[in-house]
Amino acid sequence: MAPTGEVLLLGPGPAPTSLTVREAQARPLLGQLDPEFLAIVDRVQAGLRRLFGVEHRFTLPLAGTGTAGMECVVANLVAPGDRVVVGVHGVFGQRFAEAARRAGGQVTEVRAEFGAPLCAERFAAAVAAGPTRLAAVVHAETSTGVLTDLAPFAAIARQADALFVVDCVTSLAGVELALGALGVDAAFAGTQKCLSAPPGLAPVTFGERALAVAAARQPAPPFYFDTRLLTGYFGKDRVYHHTAPVSLIYALAAALDEVEQEGLAARAARHRAVASALRAALPHLGLHALVPVEHATPMLTTVQYPGGVDDAAFRRRLREMHRIEVGAGLGPLAGRVFRIGTMGHGATLGNVERVVAAIGEALAAQGVRVDTAAALLAARRA
Ligand code: PLP
Repeated sequence: MAPTGEVLLLGPGPAPTSLTVREAQARPLLGQLDPEFLAIVDRVQAGLRRLFGVEHRFTLPLAGTGTAGMECVVANLVAPGDRVVVGVHGVFGQRFAEAARRAGGQVTEVRAEFGAPLCAERFAAAVAAGPTRLAAVVHAETSTGVLTDLAPFAAIARQADALFVVDCVTSLAGVELALGALGVDAAFAGTQKCLSAPPGLAPVTFGERALAVAAARQPAPPFYFDTRLLTGYFGKDRVYHHTAPVSLIYALAAALDEVEQEGLAARAARHRAVASALRAALPHLGLHALVPVEHATPMLTTVQYPGGVDDAAFRRRLREMHRIEVGAGLGPLAGRVFRIGTMGHGATLGNVERVVAAIGEALAAQGVRVDTAAALLAARRA
């Protein structure tokens, strides 16, 4: 009989949540203008500033998933005819480029293969090719597992006087960010990845330069995303704009408290240690990571299948026999790779051991020669 019980979320998100976060979400509702609730909102905004590494007053949990954060950035900062340069080496860079096109932007995509890092020189050439309103990269490309070093791209945008935007959906709370020091003008994230909160909120941050562009945008941005209207609620006036997703904000506040207790540096180190343990196990299972370690995200490992493995049957076996969710490959990587997320509350050595043992069993069931005992030993010694 197939086992039952909680599914261990080791895919690209959502990540597992702690009991404390789940209990916080279940608390009785308060009104969005209740002083007790506004004190929680204040705490959340301050916590998000620390995670992004910014002092921007406009830093808030937007209602909606990570894509809403992306849409908010695009809706405020890209006006029809604006030149936009986007680094595209995965599905989420593609999504940003598409969102910018839909806002009327003239988009240049600087492409690299899925699984490869972006080329800063080609990005610089594209930005310099004309007056550029906005340049954007994805920090942790969840579709491939590539982490982008932000500093060279920030410098390129700054030199060209373009706004620099970063997708931090998967990196927030999994790596240390210092977006203020880098001069990042706007960034967005999600709550269901390394923050280990439920999906449904998009932390966003805009600096003053970005807020000025947003305020001048013609036509005005959509009502829901308009930074001036959002500031009414998330600034000192506290006026109603839309009904706050109260329960999700409770959960996010609890998740931010957990980050605070652990410390962001320790949390980032934990993500790195767990990813190293997982990587060390792979060769003993006949597997290889897609991305070399120097470019790899510490919260998501993309693994190439050996020849002859049926992707759907493999992942189904992990889910049904072992109660573990891992992610499928996306775009050109579909069927060739699977993705293991070790994010937030899910980033533990115990979970690495559990998934390594399960992978060993599921591959052996398809006739692959594996040495699961050696894989487990390598993970423990890493
Ligand atoms: N950007 C990145 C890097 C992501 O990983 C995701 C989701 O996986 C998104 C954007 C979109 O976020 P959501 O699915 O929460 O709308």
